[in-house]
Amino acid sequence: MISVQEARNLIAGCCKARKIKETSLQSAGGYVLAENLCAPFDSPHFNQSAMDGYAFSYEDWDGKSELEIAGEAQAGNNFYGVLSPGTAIRIFTGAELPPGADTIVIQENVEKTENRIIIKDKKLVKGSNIRLRGSQTKKGDEILKEGHLLTPASVSFLAGFGLNSLKIFANPAVHIIATGKELIKPGDTLTSGKIFESNSHGLQAALKQLDISPTAIEITDDEEEKIMNAIQRNLDADILILTGGVSVGDYDFVATALEKCCVQKVFHKVKQKPGKPFYFGIHNQTLVFALPGNPASVLTCFYEYVVDAIISFTTKKYFKRIQMPLTTEYSKKAGLTFFLKGKTASGTVSILEGQESYKMNSFAMADCIIELEEEKTEFKKSDIVNVLMID
Ligand code: AMP
Ligand code: MG
Repeated sequence: MISVQEARNLIAGCCKARKIKETSLQSAGGYVLAENLCAPFDSPHFNQSAMDGYAFSYEDWDGKSELEIAGEAQAGNNFYGVLSPGTAIRIFTGAELPPGADTIVIQENVEKTENRIIIKDKKLVKGSNIRLRGSQTKKGDEILKEGHLLTPASVSFLAGFGLNSLKIFANPAVHIIATGKELIKPGDTLTSGKIFESNSHGLQAALKQLDISPTAIEITDDEEEKIMNAIQRNLDADILILTGGVSVGDYDFVATALEKCCVQKVFHKVKQKPGKPFYFGIHNQTLVFALPGNPASVLTCFYEYVVDAIISFTTKKYFKRIQMPLTTEYSKKAGLTFFLKGKTASGTVSILEGQESYKMNSFAMADCIIELEEEKTEFKKSDIVNVLMID
């Protein structure tokens, strides 16, 4: 059996594939940019009014006398006439500055008669209220680098350059196979010995936290051939997650079915609780996670291991790993890393009641997973522990 750290290292060693995809700008938000982008033109690409007001030539204005309004420039509708001395142009925010004008006085700072204005702005200087061409970015400037998270503001910024497609690090295709003869679906009759299948739902919701929807979900019986068929149908995924049937019981066929499907085992069994029978393998580029079926084991392994594999594709950060003091003492046996359902409050973390791996009532209340190291057995109140936030 290997340690949690060895398992993490082995998985990281197999996470080499990234998928770069060309996508429309409209769907790029939330992804990470996979190319360096340069400005195709100066932005703004013309001298632009920053306010509603009047544009004129500062040099030609004597500082006192009235200016005659000789025309109008609206955003998107230029003034094409000539600005002669003693005249001003009515101008609005976003309009192109007419040739000859270099200063704008805002409308609140003028006294307006029929067709004339008197400027009442003592602080007005040449160039006031103008967004100069190229004052945001110059043509050819690197505007965003590979690795940049495309926030709504980034998308808006790029849209301003008329970009409509760009390269991003794509989500991996994730397929899920839940195995178990006992599993029934909502709407089926709950008879003795059967249970409602919950792992695929928990995994889908966890993937949704990462903005990923699984591309295929199958529920299959505990029969080697059926499991093999399901595996073969799903080996085109980037990440294949199986749940159940990976332990040592007579009906645990997943590991042998994977072997028969030519999945190369990287490890099977990790010194951890819950989720000790955790299996990881690889088939061509497909990463295969076979998780022990108890619902708490499934989600714990997902958050602790599968998320890191997903990050290797998307290069995004999802859940924070932090350190916090415990609110209570805790004893455990040596030789296993414990992952415990926890709840944080005011900078501390509490271990919840109900840590057994079949119990989901406690997990439903958790906002984090507490990691207690393999060899340490006694944890005192205020001991600092590693915490993975999962909300
Ligand atoms: P296994 O890993 O197949 O030995 O399953 C361990 C426990 O998890 C058993 O009690 C199973 O009934 C339960 N289990 C396995 N798969 C699921 C599932 N998809 N949904 C809910 N419980 C499951
Ligand atoms: Mg089973």
